[in-house]
Amino acid sequence: MAVVTIFLSACNTEKTEPMNPFLTEYTTPFGVPPFDLIKNEHFMPAAELGFSEQLAEIEAMVAQADPPTFENTIEAYLLSGELLRKVDGVFRKLLSAETSDEIDSIARILVPMKAVHNSSIMLNAGLFQRVKSVFDNQETMNLNGEQTVSLEKIYKRFVRGGANLDEQDKLRISEINERLSTLTLEFGNNNLAETNSYQLIIDKEVDLAGLPESVRSAAADAASASGLEGKWVFTLHKPSWIPFLQYSEKRDLREEIYTAMFMRSNLGNEYDNNDLIKEILALRLERANLLGYDTHAAYVLEERMAKEPANVYELLMKVWEPALAMAKAEADMMQKMIDSENGDFQLASWDWWYYAEKIRVEKYALNEEELRAYFSLEIVIEGLFDVVNKLYGLTLEPRNDLPVYHEEVMPFEVKEADGSHLGILYMDFHPRPGKRSGAWSTGIRTAHVKGGEQITPLGLIVMNFTRPTGDKPALLSFDETLTFYHEFGHALHSLFKKSHYLKIGVATDFVELPSQIMENWAAHPDVLKTYAKHYETGEVIPDELIAKLEAASKFNQGFVTVEYTAASILDMDYHTLKDASGVNVTAFEDASMKRIGLIDEIIPRYKSNYFQHIFAGGYSAGYYSYMWSEVLDKDAFNAFVETSLFDQTTATSFRENILEKGGSLEEMEMYVNFRGAEPTIQPLLKGRGLN
Ligand SMILES: [Zn+2]
Repeated sequence: MAVVTIFLSACNTEKTEPMNPFLTEYTTPFGVPPFDLIKNEHFMPAAELGFSEQLAEIEAMVAQADPPTFENTIEAYLLSGELLRKVDGVFRKLLSAETSDEIDSIARILVPMKAVHNSSIMLNAGLFQRVKSVFDNQETMNLNGEQTVSLEKIYKRFVRGGANLDEQDKLRISEINERLSTLTLEFGNNNLAETNSYQLIIDKEVDLAGLPESVRSAAADAASASGLEGKWVFTLHKPSWIPFLQYSEKRDLREEIYTAMFMRSNLGNEYDNNDLIKEILALRLERANLLGYDTHAAYVLEERMAKEPANVYELLMKVWEPALAMAKAEADMMQKMIDSENGDFQLASWDWWYYAEKIRVEKYALNEEELRAYFSLEIVIEGLFDVVNKLYGLTLEPRNDLPVYHEEVMPFEVKEADGSHLGILYMDFHPRPGKRSGAWSTGIRTAHVKGGEQITPLGLIVMNFTRPTGDKPALLSFDETLTFYHEFGHALHSLFKKSHYLKIGVATDFVELPSQIMENWAAHPDVLKTYAKHYETGEVIPDELIAKLEAASKFNQGFVTVEYTAASILDMDYHTLKDASGVNVTAFEDASMKRIGLIDEIIPRYKSNYFQHIFAGGYSAGYYSYMWSEVLDKDAFNAFVETSLFDQTTATSFRENILEKGGSLEEMEMYVNFRGAEPTIQPLLKGRGLN
C-alpha cells in the first residue's frame, strides 16, 4: 500500500493541472467519455475518490432507519459507485485495447485495489443483512418479474461471494480475490509482451517463396515500421502468422513461427506463465472449497445453463468423437498430398494451414486470397449495416465529432427505424502493439434506468483485422468477416437491452447466442450476394465462388472443431481438479490431451500458457460456452430459415424475447419464448458436417 500512497500524493501535488474530467459531468454529445481530455494521471485520483464515494453510499444505505425495500436496498446498491463506473468505462477499455507501460503500471495498483474494494462490499455484513431481508420478505413487496429475477441474482451473488462465511473465511476470500486479480492481469501482460517481442525477420526474397503479393507487402510494411527497411517482418499477430503458415513453402520457417506462437509465455523467462497458472488454479479451488463446492467448475457452472460439469463434458464428447474422426481423415488427405509430392516427412502441426489451403485450392478451387478481394473492410461494414437495417430497422451514422482513444477508432450513432437514438457504438479494427490479441465486445456504459431516466448504452467492439497495405484497402479473410458479425451481435445485445438494472447479466453459455447467430447471415449465399463485392471492380461475388465457398465450408471442420473442443476439455480438466497442488502445466496438458486421443498434428486452439479466456478473462470453466451457445444459435437461426432470412415477425420476436431481455429472465425461458421449444443438437452437427 506504501506504493499507492506515494503515487497518489505525487498526482495530487499537480495543483495547476486542469480539472480531472472524471470528476465533472461529461459535456460531450450523449455524455460519451472525453477521451481527448482524459490523461493517465486522472485515473488514480478519480478511482480513489470513486472507492470512498461508493463505500459512503453503502454505509449510508446500511445506516438508514427505513426498513429494507427493493428500491432503497437492491436498486440503491446497483446504482452505487457511479464515479467508479466512469473510470472503469475508460480505464479497462484502454488496458485491453490501447495500453502502455504507464497504463500497465497504474493497473498493477488499481486492479488489486478494485478487487479488495469489491470484496469489502460483497462481504459487508450490514449490507448483506438488508439484501437478505428483502430476499426473505419478497412475498410482501409486490415485485414485478424483472425485480424478482434481479433480486434472486443479487442475493445469490452475495452468498457466492462469501457473505455467509465467518470472519476468518471472509478475510481469506478477500485475499484470494485480490491475489487472483493481480495474477490474471500479469498473465495477460505476459502474453502481450511475448506476442510483441517476437519477429520473424526475412532478408532474402527466396525465403518468401509461396507468399502472395499482399502478404509480402504487409510484411514489408511491418519491417519498415520496425526500422528494417528492405526486409520482411512476420509477427505473432494473427493477420501475420496465419497467412504465413497458409502460404509459405519454407517448412523450417513455418515451424519457427508456429513454435514461437505456441511457446508464448512458456519459455522460462520473465514472461513465463507456468507459475501463475499453478497459483491461479490453487486459489480458485481454495475459494470454491471455502464456499462449499468441491471444484471451481462446480462453483462456476451452478450459475450457467449447463448447471454442472457432467453436462458440459457430455456435450463436448458428443461433438468430440465425430470431429476427431473427421480430423484424422483430413490429416490423411494431407499426408497423401505430401507423399505424392515426394515430401518424405510426416505432417506436423505447422504444416496444417499450408496443406489445408492447398487442398482448398485443389479440391474446391477456392483460393482465400482471391476471396479477400470481395471482403474489403469498407464493403463488409456497409453490408453488415444493411443486414441489421433489414432485420431491425437500425441505421448507423458515423460520428466523427466524438472523441476517441485512438485515431483509428470509428464511432457510430445507432438509430431506430423511427430515427430515435439507441446508443453509440465504437469500432476499433486493426492490431496495434498496445492491443491484446483476439476480438471482443464491451461496454463503456451499460443501458439502465436512473431516477426514471433511460441511460443509453455506449458499446465498443475491438478486433485485430488485416490492415490496408500499400494502395490496397484492408481486405478481410472470410474468418475475419465472421468475427466482425460475431462481435457486432454482442453489441446489438447490449444496445437493445431494455432491462432497468445494472450488473444483471446473462450466463456465459447463453451470451454467445446473440453473437454467433449473426455469423449465419454473414455466410448465407443470399446475403453474400448483397454485400460481397470486388473492391476494384464492384463486381458482386460470382455464384460460382459462393458455391465453392459453401462446398469448402465443411472442409477443415474436423480441425476447427477438434482444436476448439480440445481447449474446452483442457479448461474443464483444470477446473474440475479436486487437488490443484503441484500441477505441472505441461505434463497436465499432455495427459489431458492424450486421454481424449488428440492427434499430434493438431494442438489445442489455446495451449495453457496463452489461454487468456480462462486465465486472464472471464471464461474459466466456460470456454465450452461457444459450443453450448452454438446449439442455441443454429437452432434459433432455423427459425429464419423456416420463414425467411429477414422475416419481420421472427426478427421482432428474437429482439423482444432474447436481445432486449438482458438478464431479467431465466435463459431457457427466454429461448423457449422465442422458439416455442428447447433446442436440439442436430442443427449444430449438421452445420459442421459432423452428423
Ligand atoms: Zn463472443
